[in-house]
Amino acid sequence: MRKNIVAGNWKMNNDLAQTKSLLADLKKQTKTSNAEVMVAPTFTNLYHAFEALRTTDIEVIAQNMHFAENGAYTGEISAAMLKSIGVQTVILGHSERREYFNETDELLAKKVDTALANNMRIIFCFGEELADRKSGNEETIVGSQIKKALFHLGAAAFQNIVLAYEPVWAIGTGETASPEQAQDMHAFIRKTLADKYGNDVADEVSILYGGSVKPANAEEIFSKPDVDGGLIGGAALKADDFYAIVNAF
Ligand code: PEP
Repeated sequence: MRKNIVAGNWKMNNDLAQTKSLLADLKKQTKTSNAEVMVAPTFTNLYHAFEALRTTDIEVIAQNMHFAENGAYTGEISAAMLKSIGVQTVILGHSERREYFNETDELLAKKVDTALANNMRIIFCFGEELADRKSGNEETIVGSQIKKALFHLGAAAFQNIVLAYEPVWAIGTGETASPEQAQDMHAFIRKTLADKYGNDVADEVSILYGGSVKPANAEEIFSKPDVDGGLIGGAALKADDFYAIVNAF
């Protein structure tokens, strides 16, 4: 049975004091759904968050990592560093990394390999831009992103991969894919996996939707059969809103 997951990506928000305050608010929340809950603070606050949430069922995850095991990569963070503070899961391929830091599918394939070699779980993000959707190319783009970054892997690797479909035009814009648009794309993603790895593998992979999910629209989006949860940006910065989304399942 694939898992339902709601993951909050805090991006480059919250200094230590703000992080402590949000963590305290999160600890007051009650989960009534069966979704796994994850939060991704900035690197500087990861260790503190991990310690603060140790006694909860909220997993602390990282927003990014480098593909090299170690070495002369000033300013970068390795898989081993993340694991040494208890972090087991990393977001890779977020559209902001692709857009502002020139992360390509080829580079992401290397990061994927490194994360898996370190026994980490990956939330792998991808999605089309507005122009791709307007020209009807969204499936071609998404299919290509998945194939280039992941299809060199064996089937077993997908036990440690969660996919996050995030149409770039819906991230941080207030514009959300309709539940039908999300379902259609998630079904396409699952079929793409099934064509390569078979239905047994495809049915077990959780596929999250990301793009302006909020308490008001979460339940309808999550009700779709191929939507297994959400990657949440803006609404994850308020504990009440985040848990309203978590409890939308
Ligand atoms: C994201 O950045 O992954 C995201 C989905 O952001 P938002 O929810 O703010 O659109």
